[in-house]
Amino acid sequence: MSEEKPTTKKSKPSPQVWKYYKIDGENAALLKKECPRCGKGVFLADHQERQSCGKCGFTQFNRSDK
Ligand SMILES: [Zn+2]
Repeated sequence: MSEEKPTTKKSKPSPQVWKYYKIDGENAALLKKECPRCGKGVFLADHQERQSCGKCGFTQFNRSDK
C-alpha cells in the first residue's frame, strides 16, 4: 500500500481538521469540503443538493454522475 496522499500541498493539516475526517481503517475520508476560495479551515455547509460557504457565499452543486 502507498501512504502517499493526492494532496496539492505538502503542508500538514492542523490537528483540528481531523475532526472532519472519518477514519476508516487506513483511509481517511474527508467528510466536509473545504471552500476553494477561503481555503483550509473553512468548510462548506452541507445541503441536499449543494454545499455552500457561509463566509464568502461560494456554492457548489453536487454532481449526480457516478
Ligand atoms: Zn468561502
